[in-house]
Amino acid sequence: MKHLRKQHPKVSDVGEFGLIRQLCGIVQTSGTSVVRGIGDDCAVLRGDHPRKYLLYTCDPVVEGIHYRPTDPPRKVGWKAMARNLSDIAAMGGVPRWAVVSIGLRRGTDTRWVKQLYAGLQAAAKAFGCQIVGGDTTHVRHEQFVVVALVGEVEKLRITLRSGAKLGDSIFVTGTLGGSLRGKHLSFTPRIHEARWLVARFPVHAMIDLSDGLSSDLHRLAEASPRGIAFEIYAAEIPIARAARGNLAAALQDGEDFELLFTIDPRHVTALRQKWARRFRMELTEIGRVVNSKHRVALLQRDGSRQPLTASGYDHFAAR
Ligand code: ADP
Ligand code: MG
Repeated sequence: MKHLRKQHPKVSDVGEFGLIRQLCGIVQTSGTSVVRGIGDDCAVLRGDHPRKYLLYTCDPVVEGIHYRPTDPPRKVGWKAMARNLSDIAAMGGVPRWAVVSIGLRRGTDTRWVKQLYAGLQAAAKAFGCQIVGGDTTHVRHEQFVVVALVGEVEKLRITLRSGAKLGDSIFVTGTLGGSLRGKHLSFTPRIHEARWLVARFPVHAMIDLSDGLSSDLHRLAEASPRGIAFEIYAAEIPIARAARGNLAAALQDGEDFELLFTIDPRHVTALRQKWARRFRMELTEIGRVVNSKHRVALLQRDGSRQPLTASGYDHFAAR
């Protein structure tokens, strides 16, 4: 009889988030220093400060995946730093220190690398963060930039993905969709907005939109207690001009890097008024936290309700 070898699934079979779930079973944390490990926008760590947590995040940008070889290097550097700043914003925090690792082909111009660093430095400096080290390697094929960033947040102001409460209003900053037409290389991480929010309002849950609204709503739902579900209204989704009126693009396109958060509805009037006085950018109430078996649902203009699947960006999904 032919020996049957056990077939291990490929990463594309389990998907990005199925894979991360499996990794969670291998890396186990111990002790009291890790407040949150895998599962939020940043790891949350107990340092020496009595009233603050440390935040720790790490995101790569890879040639051909996150940028094109012909994109301006300054913008590639900006994006590499800003993605990480956005994860600090999602926790309500302040960025402090970054390290940067780069993989370069031998034939790359030093001018390209210096412009890359001008972009990294510009984004870091704009938000009070310092680049303090990194590593450099050569690659044979695609180049990459990996930033790891440490931030801080007051313990009382931290915003986790898991904090949504029944009845909360769901808000999103800015407009969504069509980021690939340009915004993905030059977006502003919402650090100032997040800091302003957490200083004035008890935000219950927050995430930055990196994989698309529908997928990132599922991230919030997965982090929330049982029975907590997210219902959004099709008519209220702020569609970016670059998405050309396409609701599906606003729901599914990745790399918006806007903030998605929930807050008790009794704060909504004050939030709207104060926001309008402080920022020019849109802030839109797009839905409610409800009790439903569909963890994420879309309420259509005609009043019909349909489950919304996590159809945003998955690095390993079949394409
Ligand atoms: P984000 O988009 O905010 O960077 P994700 O939703 O992609 O975060 O990731 C979910 C969680 O999985 C995060 O807490 C992240 O730190 C963790 N994670 C992702 N990839 C890995 C990995 N290769 N090893 C360990 N943890 C990972
Ligand atoms: Mg994030």
